[in-house]
Amino acid sequence: MAVTADVIITGAGVIGLSTAYNLAAKKPGLSIVLVEKEKFHGAGSTAQCTGGIRHQFAHPLNITLTKISYPFFQRFAAQMEYPIYFRKRGYLFVTGESSKYASLLEMKTTMDRLEVPSEIIGPGEIAGRYPFVRTEDLIGGSYCRLDAYADPYGVMEGYYRQCRRLGVKVFCNTEVSSLITRNGRIEGVKAGSFEARAPVVVNAAGPHLHLVARLAGIDLPAAPYRRQVHMCAPMKQIPSDIPLIVDLDTGFYIHAERNGILLLGGTDRQTSPGLDPVVDRSGLFEFIEAATQRIPVLEDAEITGIYAGIRSLTPDGLGILGETELQGFYCIGGFGGNGFMHAPAVGLIAACLILGINPPVDPAPLSPQRFNAIRQKETVVF
Ligand SMILES: Cc1cc2nc3c(=O)[nH]c(=O)nc-3n(C[C@H](O)[C@H](O)[C@H](O)COP(=O)(O)OP(=O)(O)OC[C@H]3O[C@@H](n4cnc5c(N)ncnc54)[C@H](O)[C@@H]3O)c2cc1C
Repeated sequence: MAVTADVIITGAGVIGLSTAYNLAAKKPGLSIVLVEKEKFHGAGSTAQCTGGIRHQFAHPLNITLTKISYPFFQRFAAQMEYPIYFRKRGYLFVTGESSKYASLLEMKTTMDRLEVPSEIIGPGEIAGRYPFVRTEDLIGGSYCRLDAYADPYGVMEGYYRQCRRLGVKVFCNTEVSSLITRNGRIEGVKAGSFEARAPVVVNAAGPHLHLVARLAGIDLPAAPYRRQVHMCAPMKQIPSDIPLIVDLDTGFYIHAERNGILLLGGTDRQTSPGLDPVVDRSGLFEFIEAATQRIPVLEDAEITGIYAGIRSLTPDGLGILGETELQGFYCIGGFGGNGFMHAPAVGLIAACLILGINPPVDPAPLSPQRFNAIRQKETVVF
């Protein structure tokens, strides 16, 4: 089978779908083909995402990407005609280490400059608001009341349905295995007997980003890392409207789903790169230690399941978005634990770049070519 289009997008996760949607909405009539290796759209990282949306970042560009995405999430259900259960619950970062506390103070200065409200709060205030948190060893924390959650499935499906309405053609079960290039330009993709030709090809392959880039001989230092999520039954001591609480010293985080189910994790940052989302129980002891030392009532938590997903991480903690040295070939990914929350902004910026329109923010720090000279790293990571 052979098709032609104006733009081909590889990967129907939240980022590929947002890019397709923004292109189709901005330029009606543009012919867009989405190619997805799995049987269904949205079966990659996006399916394991826990739906957090935060403004609290050290890097101003990450804060700006949330500022662009946030109003879209707020109007998503109405505009995209699909429910996403957007709920403002806040994020609270806590630490007992002076260097990390200094980073939180620095982050507050950046957030003030970008006019995002946040607070630095002491252990007493944290204990008052969240009595289930152990605070004796803490120096303090940072809280932003605007930080939120939304349902990743709803966001992905809302984008997908609007893409279909706007005429985007989606080919599932179609794994891109080679790229067609000529004289330094991209000309299309091949997937078995399927061939699609277009002057623009977007690589939005999530944790496979570097593998699809390699098909063009391009080395992107984005690597896939496993992240495990422990699901626990609701507990009466932990209300379902708590913020997402992150202990920066261990990486441990907790958040409560709409139905009170608790999602816990974050102590597995040090895994080796790999694409297998297999559950690894070897870190369970360390995880339970971190969890119960910050929230002692978790001693009685009933773990109802563990699952793993893959995040694509870059050396400086920023995503990748832009045209590569191969003309017409764009790479978008490596957004780690922020790809869902930044998908609205990322898809919009990508569409602007492809259509030659000024994007709402300069994406130069996300350039695929930047890795020779990393300037500022994102440090508020977990
Ligand atoms: C446990 C967990 C929790 C997370 N929590 C959050 C959170 O709270 N907030 C947040 O913002 N982010 C979070 N993330 C990160 C977020 O899920 C990702 O950044 C985001 O989903 C990436 O979207 P994507 O479209 O780039 O990737 P994917 O959703 O992985 O989509 C890429 C698609 O490309 C397809 N593909 C790959 N190779 C090929 C090929 N050769 N040919 C055709 N198709 C191909 C894949 O099958 C896949 O469907 C979390 C991730 C994990 C694992």
